[in-house]
Amino acid sequence: MHSLPRRLLPLLFCTFAIAASAQTQDTGISIPHMDPAVRPGDNFYLYANGGFIAHTKLPPDRASIGVFNALVDLSFKQVASIIDDATKANAPAGSDERKIADLYKSYMDEAAIESHGVPALKPHLAEIDAIHTPHDLARALGQSVRADVDALNLGQFHTANLFGLWVAPSFNDPNHYAPYLLQGGIELPNRDYYLDDSENMKSIRAKYQTHVATMFRLAGLSDPEARATRVLALETAIAEKQISLADSEDIHKANNPWHPADFTAKAPGLDWPEFFTAAGLDKQDVFLVWQPSAFTGEAALVASQPIDAWKDLLAYHLIENHAPAISKAIAAERFAFFGTTLSGTPQQRPRDFRAQAIVSATLGDPVGKIYAKRFFPPEAKAQVESMVANLIAAFHARLEDITWMAPATKKEALTKLGTLKVSVGYPDHWRSYAAYQVSPDNLFANLWNADLFEYHYSLGRIGQPTDRTEWCMEPQTVNAVNLPLDNSLNFPAAILQPPFFDPKAPAAHNYGAIGTIIGHEISHTFDSEGAAFDSEGRVRNWWTPEDLAHFETVTSALAAQYDTYEPFPGVHVKGKQVLGEAIADVAGLAAALDAFHASLKGNAAPKVANFAGDQQFFIAFAQNWASVTRDAALRQQVLTDPHPPGQYRALTVRNEYGWYTAFDIQPTDKLYLAPKDRVRIW
Ligand SMILES: [Zn+2]
Repeated sequence: MHSLPRRLLPLLFCTFAIAASAQTQDTGISIPHMDPAVRPGDNFYLYANGGFIAHTKLPPDRASIGVFNALVDLSFKQVASIIDDATKANAPAGSDERKIADLYKSYMDEAAIESHGVPALKPHLAEIDAIHTPHDLARALGQSVRADVDALNLGQFHTANLFGLWVAPSFNDPNHYAPYLLQGGIELPNRDYYLDDSENMKSIRAKYQTHVATMFRLAGLSDPEARATRVLALETAIAEKQISLADSEDIHKANNPWHPADFTAKAPGLDWPEFFTAAGLDKQDVFLVWQPSAFTGEAALVASQPIDAWKDLLAYHLIENHAPAISKAIAAERFAFFGTTLSGTPQQRPRDFRAQAIVSATLGDPVGKIYAKRFFPPEAKAQVESMVANLIAAFHARLEDITWMAPATKKEALTKLGTLKVSVGYPDHWRSYAAYQVSPDNLFANLWNADLFEYHYSLGRIGQPTDRTEWCMEPQTVNAVNLPLDNSLNFPAAILQPPFFDPKAPAAHNYGAIGTIIGHEISHTFDSEGAAFDSEGRVRNWWTPEDLAHFETVTSALAAQYDTYEPFPGVHVKGKQVLGEAIADVAGLAAALDAFHASLKGNAAPKVANFAGDQQFFIAFAQNWASVTRDAALRQQVLTDPHPPGQYRALTVRNEYGWYTAFDIQPTDKLYLAPKDRVRIW
């Protein structure tokens, strides 16, 4: 069994890559985006998107551009108007509007960053410098812990701190929040970057070492080259102790309750009592340790590796993770490595855009509250909620039809569907940001305090009753997510806009575009990860061994289908890594097609540009995935992301019988799959 994050999109795409403008297209599918010269059965992705690809020029500040990005751009314009109004309002100190205005100002004020950044960094560097004993080191490592990971909802497994905290409903008591601890300690995206022997990775490592040295030099530290050598050696040793992304995604390996004494016994080397005290976690009597072998391995490294190497690592991570707030030169060097070398993007996004991104991410709820009110009308919410109801009915019918599931399993699946909480647009209630202080001219302090604010918010939730109406995304985020421990879904307002959802577009388009996305998220409720959580969010294997065997046979065929995709010679999509997302795509497409047909109530769907309803449905689905991506970014996605690249997500149609009929696909077509090879999940 295998578990995967349930958000719809790579976070990277949502954070860094934005297109020029979103189009409005109330006729639904975009004809200019298509390439009629391509046969739909040979490459359905290019058939639906060839025009978009031919006409899209990647600006130098983008790693990727797609229809998702166009919508992200629209959302940012909307957020920009919120910031602009907050700035003009001159709102009272301490109010949400004032915080929005001040945080934006602090990011835009380059002169203030230049004069405050290094002085703000200095005391933190001095603290690291004052580490002399293993006890001191344990304290510093504990103080560095942040709530910067999220294993199940957002699929954020990476933290550069030694370990990361995630507070979520407990695997074993889903009615209360518990602290989960995840592996960390490296700055590059994952362990493969340190351990893979390909020429491409070797070259990245050489450039990385130079980059680390440059960061030390720019921050004014002595012996930058020697320090960089030590950092790379230590991070490589940590990477060796970490487990892979695919293994991290397996929740059946993650339910490891450890009491404080277990850490000392099972992971000797780190002064755990000091570590927990410094992290504010000394009152906890049980933790869920996600990757136990990494905790054992990394704790041993704390004892076996020289304290000086650890000090260098802490100093480098401190500088790297606050780069935009320290100085122009340090911020530019960070982008040169992480933006250009790793993602292939020559230029940074404009400063005002980056400032909006910081405000939107840091003040998620205060911005979201205004966003929802201003940009998500009640009629749109009602229409999407009725589509959701149709999708749930389609899943209900499909589950009822399944013959391979044991009756008890089917009953629990239907109970899960019946109790699934689907939230559309925005949360029912909002978080208070009263404890977050914002200065108009000290970005370093603002970012530092924001991380601590989030951390203390998480600490405060431990042991509290679970709030099943909670959101883990902001309304202004173009994405969607399944929260397995809450048995709930979030569909933020920002994704419920054209081209994904348009109240004026034909149903064929809306079901093909946003309907398949809603179906994707619902499917996660029952998929390989959903199968591990019952209707109350408890980790309980509610499948029989026979159900599981059938599911694994069917889904391994799907993994094998994805293994055949080869974006670069010799570089294949990792079927196992993307399996959870591929399953959700197959199931979401099938259920959305059913829901679309049901919505017609026996009437024929209106034609658009001579395309029948089902044709529009499949084209709209494939158009969700239009993108132009730089090679380096695509390589990074194949290595690190649980989502398949969009060009292959569009090919999900191969598994759907309705697609063969709609486009008259024949065995001679390249995408043709014999009926026995078409994967049906539900
Ligand atoms: Zn997903």
